[in-house]
Amino acid sequence: MSDPASKGAACGCLSPEQLRILREHGTERPGSSPLNNEKRAGEYRCAGCGAPLFYSGTKYESGSGWPSFFDAIPGAVGTTTDTSHGMTRTEVHCAHCQGHLGHVFPDGPPPTGLRYCMNGLALTFVPRDGAG
Ligand SMILES: [Zn+2]
Repeated sequence: MSDPASKGAACGCLSPEQLRILREHGTERPGSSPLNNEKRAGEYRCAGCGAPLFYSGTKYESGSGWPSFFDAIPGAVGTTTDTSHGMTRTEVHCAHCQGHLGHVFPDGPPPTGLRYCMNGLALTFVPRDGAG
């Protein structure tokens, strides 16, 4: 017997909430991501396409309730100017699949002075240990 129900599910790994963030520029609830407390060494990849975006060495505790980084892997992310909600912000997306990740603000720590404020649901953490 054929199994038509399984057709069309190109990627069954993204939840509706992840799709809402990546595709519709959604924002998760602050403090809701387990990645806020992730302290292990490794890399953070795009939940949409798996491209490496951030190294654990650039992650820091911003107190914002979202996973925050002071730098991205060179070439991994792109930015656009976001003037929605009456504010001018810099939107950050995956350079590979264009999935929305979060925003970047100019109030981060040295050496960059940047704060990449990311949705944890847009990221997948891959620990260095056992990653091969
Ligand atoms: Zn991506």
